[in-house]
Amino acid sequence: MVIVGGGAAGLSLAHRLTRTGTATVTVVEPPAGRLRPPERTWCYWDRGDGDFDEAVGASWSRLRIHGADGRDVTVDPAPLRYRMLRSTPFERLVHSRLERSPGARVLRATAEAVRNVALGAEAGAEVRCSAPDGGELTLRARHVFDSRPLRTLPPARTLLLQHFRGWFVRTDTNRFDPAVADLMDFRVPQPRHGLAFGYVLPLAPDQALVEYTEFSRTPLTTVAYDVALDHYSRNVLGLGAFTVEAAEQGVIPMTDARFPCRIGPAVFRIGTAGGATRPATGYTFAAVQRQSRAIADALRTGSGLVCPPHGRRALAMDAVLLRALDSGRIDGPDFFTALFRRTPPERLLRFLDGATSPWEEWGIGLRTPVGPMLRTAVELPFLRRRSHPAFPFGVSRG
Ligand SMILES: Cc1cc2nc3c(=O)[nH]c(=O)nc-3n(C[C@H](O)[C@H](O)[C@H](O)COP(=O)(O)OP(=O)(O)OC[C@H]3O[C@@H](n4cnc5c(N)ncnc54)[C@H](O)[C@@H]3O)c2cc1C
Repeated sequence: MVIVGGGAAGLSLAHRLTRTGTATVTVVEPPAGRLRPPERTWCYWDRGDGDFDEAVGASWSRLRIHGADGRDVTVDPAPLRYRMLRSTPFERLVHSRLERSPGARVLRATAEAVRNVALGAEAGAEVRCSAPDGGELTLRARHVFDSRPLRTLPPARTLLLQHFRGWFVRTDTNRFDPAVADLMDFRVPQPRHGLAFGYVLPLAPDQALVEYTEFSRTPLTTVAYDVALDHYSRNVLGLGAFTVEAAEQGVIPMTDARFPCRIGPAVFRIGTAGGATRPATGYTFAAVQRQSRAIADALRTGSGLVCPPHGRRALAMDAVLLRALDSGRIDGPDFFTALFRRTPPERLLRFLDGATSPWEEWGIGLRTPVGPMLRTAVELPFLRRRSHPAFPFGVSRG
C-alpha cells in the first residue's frame, strides 16, 4: 500500500498498519522544500498509554477557560489528559519505528498524480512521483491513501478560519502553573466578526507556548498577531519581562464542506484532506488516530474500507454551530464559556471526539442558546453551498 504525505495522518496510518502487521507500506514524502510544512504543535486528549507517548513533550491534567467577564473555570477531565506533541519528535519516532519494520519504507519523492487503475483483474491505484534527482517513478498498489493538502476546499455553506500565532516564551520569573493549560482565554479584545481568545500551554514554571487565536473569515498579518500577542502577554497575563524563543503560525479551515474520503475504488483521502479536521474546533490529531485504527481494522477483517473520520450527527451539529457563529446569532465567548461551565468535562471532551450518545448530546444541546441554534438548524437546509476563494491553509514559521 502507498501513503502519500508523511505528516500527521500519513505517518499515523503507516505506523498503525506496520505495528499491527496489516500491510507493507511505502510513505511518499517530499524532500525538504516548499511542500514540507514547518514544525508545528499538535494537542489532543486521551487516556494515556498512547502509541506516541515517547514523543509527547508535555501534558496537563487540568484545563481552564477564562470568560470575557474575567471569571474562570478550571476542569479536570480525568481519566482524559491534554497532551502536546511537536511534529519533529513525532516524525523522528515514527520514522525510527518504520526503519525497524521490514514491511515499511519512506520514499523521498513528490507525488505528482494519483489515480485509480486496474491491477490485472483487481482494482488498484498508481502514484506518479518525481524523485529529488529529477527522475520519475510510478508506484502501484492495491490501495493508496492520499494526505496531500487540497488546493481548494469543496463548496460550503460556512467557511470560517481558525487562524493563530503563538510565541514560545521564557519569562524572567516563574509565571506559569505547569499543571494547568488555558484552553480558551476570552479576556482579549473581540473582533467585529467571529471571536478571539488566548491559549497558554505551560512547559515549565518560566516557559510556555502563548497563542492568540481567532475564528473569523480572514487571517491577520504577522504584525497584527504580534500586537495582539504582546497585549495578551503583558496586559492580560502580566508576564513581566520575557523573551520570545520561537514562533508558530497557522490557519485551519472550519467549514461544513463535504470532504469525500473515497476517490474511486482504490484511492482514499486521509487527514485534513479527507475531512479529519473537526469543523467546530479545528482539532484533527485525535480523529486521525481513530481513522488510522478504523482503516487498519477494515483491511485486516476485509470489511468495507470507508472510514469517514467524523459521524453525521457530529458534522450536522458543527454545521449549525459554525453558521450560528458566522451569522453572529450567538456570542462565541459566552457560548464556549457556558459549555465548559455547565457540562461535565470528560463528557464534553468525549462530545468533541464524537463519542457521546444521542442522549448525552441532547443534554449538552439544552445547555446552549436553544432559540438561536434551532433557528439556524431550520435555516441550514435552504442555504446553497458556495465555492470559496482558494486559501493557502497550513503553517508558516515565525
Ligand atoms: C500550526 C498548526 C497547529 C495545529 N495544531 C493542532 C492541534 O493542536 N491539535 C490538532 O488536533 N490539530 C492541530 N492542527 C490541525 C491538524 O492536526 C494539522 O494540520 C495536521 O498536520 C493535519 O495532518 P495531515 O496529515 O492532514 O496534514 P500534514 O500534517 O500537513 O501532512 C501533509 C503531508 O503531505 C506532504 N505533501 C504535500 N504535498 C505532497 C506531494 N506532492 N507529494 C507527497 N507528499 C506531499 C507534506 O510534506 C506533509 O508532510 C494544527 C494545524 C496547524 C497548521
